[in-house]
Amino acid sequence: MHKFLFIILLFIGNAHALERTIHITQSLNYDARKANISQKTVHNIVRIFSWKIDFNKDLKKGDRFIVVGNKGASPSAIIYIGAKKRIAVFAYTDKRGRIGYYDSSGKTLYPSFAKSPLKYSRISSKFQKKRLHPILKTWRPHRAVDYAAKQGTVVRAVANGIIKHNKYMGALGNVVYIKHGSNYTTVYAHLSKFARGLRPSSKVKKGQIIGFVGSTGRSTGPHLHYELRYKGIRRNPLTWQLPRQKRVAKYDLKRFQKRAKAILRSL
Ligand SMILES: [Zn+2]
Repeated sequence: MHKFLFIILLFIGNAHALERTIHITQSLNYDARKANISQKTVHNIVRIFSWKIDFNKDLKKGDRFIVVGNKGASPSAIIYIGAKKRIAVFAYTDKRGRIGYYDSSGKTLYPSFAKSPLKYSRISSKFQKKRLHPILKTWRPHRAVDYAAKQGTVVRAVANGIIKHNKYMGALGNVVYIKHGSNYTTVYAHLSKFARGLRPSSKVKKGQIIGFVGSTGRSTGPHLHYELRYKGIRRNPLTWQLPRQKRVAKYDLKRFQKRAKAILRSL
């Protein structure tokens, strides 16, 4: 009798940690459908992991995503297993009742953003719908912030990301584009030169020097033209609500990590 009850409990316990695996053979969308994973979960996977994985480049045949939890509900964990790395995130409900995904150290994969790529500088032109262009002498939008700074002042990445490109591009002069996750791109223009070793696809950390203030391209004097793009649209870097990394509450961390370990062990 007791043994029987134990087996039932064991069964319930297992059902709780139901897992499904997406084996990458063609694309995340295709293989998720084959694994019976909802479109919503696929969206979540891209949203969460694109801070660490470039879905266009990094995802390889043979990679796997393990989705832990009951169908229909928010997964209790999602684990990416690639040839080179493994990234695991676990659901955690914050004080306000919002479910988020945190790594085993209790941090979200998305980073915090600095407001400005320069320290101690003066804003010489704000984000505005109409501005008399100093060279073209026409009224046009300025969807960026310009910082006046001395030639050669260091310019830093506002958040962790991947260099999309760094090259000379007409009016923007020497410019660096950094991708942060799937939705954000930051742009740093008119640079005198790039930081050494900077090249497309290289990873940068928040605060890392990426170049130096200059006046290349269409520019009247040394300054940094800085753009923040969200889903391809230029937003005001001074007012836009930027991502801020979240952590599991301190009093919950031990419990959270214990649960994370238990989930990993059960796979
Ligand atoms: Zn500008």
